[in-house]
Amino acid sequence: MRLDKLLEAAKVGSRKEVKRLLVSRHVKVDGGVVQSGAYNVDPVLQRVTLKEQVVQGPAHVYYMLNKPQGAVSAVRDKQHQTVVDLIAASDRRPGLFPVGRLDRDTEGLLLLTDNGKLAHQLLVPLKGVVKQYEAVVNERVTTSDIKAFQAGITFHGGVTCQPADLQIVTATESESRVLVSITEGKFHQVKKMFLSVGKKVIYLKRVTMGSLCLDEGLKPGDYRPLTSEELRLLQ
Ligand code: URA
Repeated sequence: MRLDKLLEAAKVGSRKEVKRLLVSRHVKVDGGVVQSGAYNVDPVLQRVTLKEQVVQGPAHVYYMLNKPQGAVSAVRDKQHQTVVDLIAASDRRPGLFPVGRLDRDTEGLLLLTDNGKLAHQLLVPLKGVVKQYEAVVNERVTTSDIKAFQAGITFHGGVTCQPADLQIVTATESESRVLVSITEGKFHQVKKMFLSVGKKVIYLKRVTMGSLCLDEGLKPGDYRPLTSEELRLLQ
């Protein structure tokens, strides 16, 4: 946000007063004097001071949730528990919502924030960002499936997917454990990709989104704030 807007929001003075404080070199961002009110700052990641006193910006919240099966990726739902319901009342903020979605029966990495602007920025590039899933499939996954994923699966309706990476962790006639990496976010994408090669996903968990990895210490339903380093990597 603009530095002058942050100072006004923090009620350090009127617009005129804020301008005067900036021009008289009383405001610093990360230790350096900034005189322009138009200067863009991130109130979460950057330290703004006025006469060496920290100015608290309107901080947003950013949570990494290990989404459990059964919860819907929505803010409210008449029938089911939502991912926002999993956030303790004391951590909830108006406007908190999930960035993107996972199916109700999918587990794993989901981001929640009340920063609509950042979420929008995240969702656009995320379309090209690699998302990795652990999946359990109901029969033996083969090297011909790997090749089909690499070539770009075409769904039964005719839609073609970008090439995807498929790695077999273990495979038997009745069950395979695999890692799938996709760069798009089509509806039920991983499940539909396996259906296209005649197989059924019986368990799905997202483990990474770009540089962000699901914290292994988070049990399904648990969440924690993103670290400033995780947040920086997302921007
Ligand atoms: N692909 C799916 O099929 N489901 C999800 O929830 C995410 C990716």
